[in-house]
Amino acid sequence: MNIGFPAPDHDHARCVHDLLKRAEQACGGRGLRLTPLRRRVLEALAESHAPLGAYEIVEHLAKAGEPAPPMSVYRALEFLVAERLAHRIESRNAYLACNYGHDGDEVVMFLLCERCGTVAEVASRAVGRDLGEAARGVGFETRAPVLEISGLCANCRKAKPRR
Ligand SMILES: [Zn+2]
Ligand SMILES: [Zn+2]
Ligand SMILES: [Zn+2]
Repeated sequence: MNIGFPAPDHDHARCVHDLLKRAEQACGGRGLRLTPLRRRVLEALAESHAPLGAYEIVEHLAKAGEPAPPMSVYRALEFLVAERLAHRIESRNAYLACNYGHDGDEVVMFLLCERCGTVAEVASRAVGRDLGEAARGVGFETRAPVLEISGLCANCRKAKPRR
């Protein structure tokens, strides 16, 4: 299942609601606790479909009247990334709430819009197989491969070019 890019007028409150619900279910199923801070960090990430830097999250929490020490925010992010409830987007040095449920042998591809900053996740088993084969050819074993791909999202492609 690929979510793709959200339409500009989509019901985002619902996105956030569904995402938090999925995260709670995933944690429950794995016997882990989505502590209040982990939940708030995920909520802050889920507020936008563009990735946020760790420091932006710290600021966001402070503005919301729920300040947390940066170290605790980093630890919450580490947890969310390890559980694949959020992702680190290396090329942006930022984090994104996961809008997708992952399973083992897929390659996750992050499509990064250069104009609006939105990131969509798509996954492919076929790419996973090809990549695995190419890597094995040089004696390499891939682990949770991720690709980051820049371009323009459908909404930005439709928009008139800026002058
Ligand atoms: Zn949304
Ligand atoms: Zn994901
Ligand atoms: Zn865009």
